[in-house]
Amino acid sequence: MPGEKVTLSVIKADIGSLAGHHKVHPDTMLAASRILAEAKKKGVIKSFYVTHVGDDLQLIMTHYKGVDNPEIHELAWNAFKEATKVAKDLGLYAAGQDLLSDAFSGNVRGLGPGVAEMEFVERPSEPVVIFMADKTEPGAFNLPFYKIFADPFNTAGLVIDPRMHDGFIFEILDVFEGKMVRLSAPEELYDILALIGTPSRYVIKRVYRKSDGEIAGVVSSERLNLIAGKYVGKDDPVAIARAQSGFPAVGEILEAFSFPHLVAGWMRGSHHGPLMPVGLKDAKMTRFDGPPRVVALGFQIHNGELIGPADLFDDPAFDEARRLAQLITDYMRRHGPFMPHRLGPEEMEYTTLPQVLKKLHDRFKPYELGYKPVIKHSEELSGEEIHD
Ligand SMILES: [Mg+2]
Repeated sequence: MPGEKVTLSVIKADIGSLAGHHKVHPDTMLAASRILAEAKKKGVIKSFYVTHVGDDLQLIMTHYKGVDNPEIHELAWNAFKEATKVAKDLGLYAAGQDLLSDAFSGNVRGLGPGVAEMEFVERPSEPVVIFMADKTEPGAFNLPFYKIFADPFNTAGLVIDPRMHDGFIFEILDVFEGKMVRLSAPEELYDILALIGTPSRYVIKRVYRKSDGEIAGVVSSERLNLIAGKYVGKDDPVAIARAQSGFPAVGEILEAFSFPHLVAGWMRGSHHGPLMPVGLKDAKMTRFDGPPRVVALGFQIHNGELIGPADLFDDPAFDEARRLAQLITDYMRRHGPFMPHRLGPEEMEYTTLPQVLKKLHDRFKPYELGYKPVIKHSEELSGEEIHD
């Protein structure tokens, strides 16, 4: 419908998987698809595509109801519930893992599923790229989204396309405090980096084109550990970027993933590893339950319909990035249980490691260091109170 805003909703959850945390079972995808097909028939959604990356079931939907719409969120919730029933019938691993609540209460955010949604007036040609990652966390998109929307060495259009030349606005979320800050690139690049270099806490949530305020990108920001207060699976994120005609080209968007940067996640959500860009056929986790992977699906949105997808990382042009990721995998794995392969103590708080350490608590005896240690905690970085 021309002039009307279409909404693209990507909602995902791990509702149980085949062979440990390896991959989604096709029957659970069918169960979710049936619910969405029914909703499409009733006119609740315009179009949909169901897929999976590793153990995460992905629902991609278009509709005209806006972001955070209760009807759409309930639809996704019901699709995950139906898929969970199948997962339980089949005895799949961790069936219903990400559904942290028994009851739906108007919005899936905070209940476990990850959500990336954006609403816009369709351009005559509307290409979008949908990213879906497994075995990592929302902050994994900080580095590539910075490169896509703020780094002219990645995105030539920032220099040569007049519609992008003013730069982009970054909305950065503090997931510990529930606060948001809007910063402007390129003027505040160093401030942006000062925050998003701590991806466990500061997450790029949305990006807007500065010249007209058009939405350019959105990332899911749900962190399951922080919702549940314990490790219940990693917060495998999803993201959307609009492409071409005043936005970065599809190739500029993909280019940011040619460097397999280190992200948190992988085995037991407790390790750093390279983010490997793969096609759907390789979107299944094996070695040490990883390494972490990201899939990029390209769609055109036309009259509200999802046209596609194109499996964008299923291309030999990313073979070298994958090879580098394999080398980094070997290198990181040789650290075994040592940091920085294993995550730092703040992140390990949410795992079962404290239970192990608790046993040793009484075996520590006082020891004269010969100095009084001055321990500093920056509240901005750790989320803890500052102690004198
Ligand atoms: Mg997963």
